[in-house]
Amino acid sequence: MKFETKAVHAGNSKDETAGSVSIPLYLSTTFERDDAGAIGPKGFVYTRLNNPNRMALETKLAELENGAEAMAYSSGMAATLAVFQSVLKPGSHVIISDDCYHGVVHLLKNTFARWNVTYTEVDMTLAQNVEVAIQENTKLILIESPSNPQLKITDIEAVAEIAKKRKVILACDNTWATPCIIQPLTLGADLVIHSSTKYFGGHSDVLGGCVVVKEQNELTDRLREFQTIGGVVPSPFDCWLLFRSMATLSLRMKAQSESAMVIAAELSKHPGIEKVFYPGLTSHHNHEVATRQMRGNFGGMLSVLIKGGEKEALNFASRLHLFKHATSLGGVESLVEHRLSVEGDNAKSPPNLIRISVGIEHVDDLISDLNQALA
Ligand SMILES: *Cc1c(COP(=O)(O)O)cnc(C)c1O
Repeated sequence: MKFETKAVHAGNSKDETAGSVSIPLYLSTTFERDDAGAIGPKGFVYTRLNNPNRMALETKLAELENGAEAMAYSSGMAATLAVFQSVLKPGSHVIISDDCYHGVVHLLKNTFARWNVTYTEVDMTLAQNVEVAIQENTKLILIESPSNPQLKITDIEAVAEIAKKRKVILACDNTWATPCIIQPLTLGADLVIHSSTKYFGGHSDVLGGCVVVKEQNELTDRLREFQTIGGVVPSPFDCWLLFRSMATLSLRMKAQSESAMVIAAELSKHPGIEKVFYPGLTSHHNHEVATRQMRGNFGGMLSVLIKGGEKEALNFASRLHLFKHATSLGGVESLVEHRLSVEGDNAKSPPNLIRISVGIEHVDDLISDLNQALA
């Protein structure tokens, strides 16, 4: 089946009770045993361990990422935490990109520092930089491509070759591209991480995360244990919402990416803009890699440098009407964010950088709004 078909059908099963076409919501926390006291025929025991809505969601996630198995967590950060807990040991070393999600740096710098875990931030626009940073105790490489917020592009296949040769686990945070555009497991990654809060949910109304693995092994068991025994699980309703939203993922991504491309091209010509970061532009430093790696389009995220400084950037954000100034991304409504303001003590975005998450509104209305705010 093609991606679009799987997005609709994967994880669905026949509803024996009422024949409902959309999956029922199973709020029950516990499931009845059979007459002999054994686990019931459907295999469910207790919702922390598994639940029909979570199982349906995990089936869809695994199929869309071409993975062997998926684990749904309560947030993207919980999914990242699960990977760190399952892959790292005290004294391990991690390689992350120098432009990765600020929460990831926070985890390593604070929480995992207590395990004596160390990390190196690497410019992954050149795969060789990753190889140079590998140490004897390196256990994990974490790629984010496009990166957040500067949309740097990493050649996943090239890094996967290095990771395989040096026997290091390779994880990709695929939140921004989604499997519509990049399928990292097919390119050689071992794990994919998502914040489902973003494009999978798509409507800014559900928090979630997941890890998808390429193959079942001991690491999968540890990820599953962290989920079920650690209890970092999404609620049945959150799973139901995500399952429902993912059916329209490819339609939303297509609309958002097409508009992002038009907006990136428009803004590149605008005198009020100093620079546009978007992998679809031929001016992007890794446009060739992006074209080879990203299927069909380049995603719905871009960043811009507003001419001037922090004050001009914040003024621009406040003058927009359709674009809301709020954190997060991937929803049907367009958002802008002044990244420096939210990055906390690891802040390093340029003061005039505004990140744009393009929604599904008509692109003409979005461009008018941007133009009036820049004027
Ligand atoms: C939002 C985000 C996260 C964190 O996910 P939450 O669901 O907010 O916990 C991690 N990585 C990327 C790339 C993100 O955009």
